[in-house]
Amino acid sequence: MERIECDVLIIGSGGAGLRAAVEAKETFKRGKIVLVSKGVIGESGVTATACSDRMAFHVTLPYTEPGGPDNWKYHAEDIYRIGGYVSDGDLALILAKEAQAAFEYLDRLGVPFVKREDGRAEQFITDGSEYARACYTGPRTANHIEEALLKKASSMDITMVHHCMVSELLKSRGRVIGAFGLDEREEELEKRLRVFSSKATILTTGGAGEAFGLHVFPVCMTGDGYAMAYRAGAELVNMEFIQIGLCSVRTKLACSGSMMRAVPRFVNEEGEEFLKNYFHHDTPLSEIYNLIFEKGASWPVSREKKTHLLDVAVFKEMVRGHRVFLDYRTNPEGFRFQDLDPGWRRRYENEIKRPVPDQWRERSPLDRLSEINPELIDWLKEHGVDLKSGERMEIAPAVQHFQGGVKIGERGDTSLRGLYAAGECAGGQHGANRPGGNALLDSQVFGRIAGHEAALEAKRIDRQEVSQREIDLYLKRLKGLNRGKRASEVRKEIQSITSRFAAVVRTEQGLREGLKGLQALRRDGIALDENGLVFALETENLIDVSEMVLRACLARKESRGPHLFFNRFEDPSPLPSRDPKWRKYIVIQNRSGEMILKKENPVTLTLDQGRPG
Ligand SMILES: Cc1cc2nc3c(=O)[nH]c(=O)nc-3n(C[C@H](O)[C@H](O)[C@H](O)COP(=O)(O)OP(=O)(O)OC[C@H]3O[C@@H](n4cnc5c(N)ncnc54)[C@H](O)[C@@H]3O)c2cc1C
Repeated sequence: MERIECDVLIIGSGGAGLRAAVEAKETFKRGKIVLVSKGVIGESGVTATACSDRMAFHVTLPYTEPGGPDNWKYHAEDIYRIGGYVSDGDLALILAKEAQAAFEYLDRLGVPFVKREDGRAEQFITDGSEYARACYTGPRTANHIEEALLKKASSMDITMVHHCMVSELLKSRGRVIGAFGLDEREEELEKRLRVFSSKATILTTGGAGEAFGLHVFPVCMTGDGYAMAYRAGAELVNMEFIQIGLCSVRTKLACSGSMMRAVPRFVNEEGEEFLKNYFHHDTPLSEIYNLIFEKGASWPVSREKKTHLLDVAVFKEMVRGHRVFLDYRTNPEGFRFQDLDPGWRRRYENEIKRPVPDQWRERSPLDRLSEINPELIDWLKEHGVDLKSGERMEIAPAVQHFQGGVKIGERGDTSLRGLYAAGECAGGQHGANRPGGNALLDSQVFGRIAGHEAALEAKRIDRQEVSQREIDLYLKRLKGLNRGKRASEVRKEIQSITSRFAAVVRTEQGLREGLKGLQALRRDGIALDENGLVFALETENLIDVSEMVLRACLARKESRGPHLFFNRFEDPSPLPSRDPKWRKYIVIQNRSGEMILKKENPVTLTLDQGRPG
């Protein structure tokens, strides 16, 4: 066992954790700052590893659309309004106002943002946004941010603890005073234990992709921060809002942009075009094809975008036991390019990179894709999907981001004294929908704030010792963790419950059934298997996380953002949003072992000079 004493403890080393560590050190120069992470710092988590065709970092700069001195107010309004009025307006204001400083900081650290000749940053429009705010370096924007921050943190006197899964927060008289961690490499339990005692602790453990069967997170992302904070009694919020969208099963690439604008056929394994079976029988096919085109700019499932009907159709087809593919070889039944809305045709024409004769554009989705994004065809081939040889691309809804998390206030503080949260682990800064690019921004803005505030608190207070009795009790609990089903089996069952009942189509009946399944798993317990203790503890955490997700889904009897709530699974459309009645938070808290849910009003956004513009 090793005891590690510090002033500020930061758990998780993605964009939020690294930013918090750097800021904590800058605020408390003589303080001991400890950054602890699963795996190798700089190589674990989403920021270090995730890529997409063009990763977005949302910023309002002085020249950002729509311009003028108030342009940041549009950004705040977007977060709040497009988010569905279920985020805190004060946090939206902070995100928007501090975006410029966050961008400039990364720019100074050498993140290679793409710039125009005049030195201004290139910005584009992302899913769910109205204005072009997304800065980028390319497909690896997040990785570049991680690398730059790691370089900075490594140049400072920050203690880095690699390969350590923090497994439990420690509390004394209502205050978080540290955490237990387990070295992932040691064999013997006593040797593995790390006891951190800290004056202030920041959770930056990211999201919980691994709670679902199909996701685009690295596998270590098991929502440990959500589960630890919950067990310690902190409030969590917005756990029902999880970003999900259609992805290629083999490459995990999000199926958006040109992939949809080429208007492929949606077929099952038998080659049957199934979309029309899930639309009203008199829906013209051209209407469905316009939706496919539109899906190119509205990737995540959202009640506020009619394109969610495509996700619903794919999901229902899969629940019926089918596999689903995008087929680019031939046009969908009755498709004519000229039937696309004029606005979409103009958009298509603006995207042409390698023009083909007009009649080819009519010929096949592959011809259209090769006209607007020939590089993608090559990329897919390199990654095992050869569209040119006639291969079809298997797709399924996959989870990409948790909008909610540990509820934070303006200082990155949580409802527990001594505990802060930032990045994807935190909740309340995003609403039901999260315009693309705001997650990376959030990791930087609230990472900085949490680091600063935690360091200020650490300067003010004394550290409390973790008692030997507490350590002995924890070791005893860990030794007793070996009964019931094998951990890997339990994990699979959790994933099958969430993927079936808390993914695209949510119903009261399904969610109740899912909760029963989770309760049975909890009751039966978890046995260690060849994956070891850390895997088993993560799996325990996944039960807590999944229960929070399912209970929050069950409580919200309306649809909003990615939460599509259906009266019955067979219904063609989800229930509508109940506005303004349901502009509410569902706040979750553990009270003496019972999961309590309460409805609360988020902080309303107030822009001092009224609406922007
Ligand atoms: C494929 C993909 C594409 C995306 N594209 C965009 C985009 O274009 N724009 C955008 O804004 N957002 C995007 N996102 C979301 C965004 O990248 C993430 O929300 C963000 O990077 C999260 O940063 P973070 O620091 O909060 O968490 P992470 O970067 O995930 O870091 C979490 C850290 O916590 C550690 N950790 C976890 N549990 C423990 C534990 N128990 N003990 C110790 N350490 C622990 C992990 O090892 C890791 O170091 C995308 C996400 C994905 C998956």
